Amino acid sequence: FQIVIFSTDPGRVRVSVRVRPRNGEELKSDADFADLVELQPEIKRLKLRKNNWNSESYRFDEVFTDTASQKRVYEGVAKPVVEGVLSGYNGTIMAYGQTGTGKTYTVGKIGKDDAAERGIMVRALEDILASASSASSVSVEISYLQLYMETIQDLLAPEKSNISINEDGKTGEVSVPGATVVNIQDLDHFFQVLQVGETNRHAANTKMNTESSRSHAILTVYVRRAMNEKAETGTKSPKPESLGDKGIPRVRKSKLLIVDLAGSERINKSGTDGHLIEEAKFINLSLTSLGKCINALAEGSSHIPTRDSKLTRLLRDSFGGSARTSLIITIGPSARYHAETTSTIMFGQRAM
Ligand code: ADP
Ligand code: MG
Repeated sequence: FQIVIFSTDPGRVRVSVRVRPRNGEELKSDADFADLVELQPEIKRLKLRKNNWNSESYRFDEVFTDTASQKRVYEGVAKPVVEGVLSGYNGTIMAYGQTGTGKTYTVGKIGKDDAAERGIMVRALEDILASASSASSVSVEISYLQLYMETIQDLLAPEKSNISINEDGKTGEVSVPGATVVNIQDLDHFFQVLQVGETNRHAANTKMNTESSRSHAILTVYVRRAMNEKAETGTKSPKPESLGDKGIPRVRKSKLLIVDLAGSERINKSGTDGHLIEEAKFINLSLTSLGKCINALAEGSSHIPTRDSKLTRLLRDSFGGSARTSLIITIGPSARYHAETTSTIMFGQRAM
């Protein structure tokens, strides 16, 4: 007997919401910091206060209060996607929300010395590495990219600052041939690589005089499994059908994308600084395009408009179809962010 916690409907996006705990300033009992949302996790509902008298109720696949642990969030949001990847299906996990609401905490927190604090990237690797260590023919590789103003940079090799996306015309497989790929041996190794990526992300954004909140960080985990292993076939010798055309053992490939999206807040376009206006346009492009694709998926459309931005081109083969997709939206707790929080909740609702 197993509790099914994940809808495997192909193409459906699983949408969860997490509210960040109040920070120092928000603990003040000012009207500005009054509660904006009321969470009912047991019935998976969120009530958003519209004004002093009215509130609107929304349903999500999972609702996480400010006391939900990183472990619970991982299990509800990411684990089913990771399990899909381990059985050969591509998957995507994304965090969407206003800057400061906990996207990076949720997906990217390293927590080397405090296992309870670890975010989705680290927990996913833990699970994938555990599965790989029980089967010698599984390899785990990662790349870590940053997308800023429709330009892809390699967070593991910052000198590679304009990486292109390749799409196989026949299989539709998306790849980034120029990106650094690191074979991950164990969790300690992953901590090191992730730390390098984090340091480079910070350095790149300082150099360009931008904030990391304006870029998307994309971790890709490539899992390759030789099909003729014992664990796969239950026999000692490879079965003939596990061999490809030329007698070469077939390899099952899948990948997992974990995306820490750019802050969803609107950037002020009215500045006289041309750079900022350009930036606003480009950042909106990837997020707007993602929104359109998510809507198309939710509506069961046969055409998902993934060509419009680099982000959606990268996601193309790991999104919809047989892939599993999970979106976590993060919100702040208080009335101060009424407009942004409402817009984030609407984004999540449109995906369902
Ligand atoms: P974002 O990436 O969306 O801009 P962060 O992840 O950087 O936001 O979070 C902003 C701050 O709030 C950080 O100091 C982070 O550690 C803290 N924070 C966010 N979510 C939580 C949480 N669920 N529990 C504890 N601290 C959190
Ligand atoms: Mg962040």
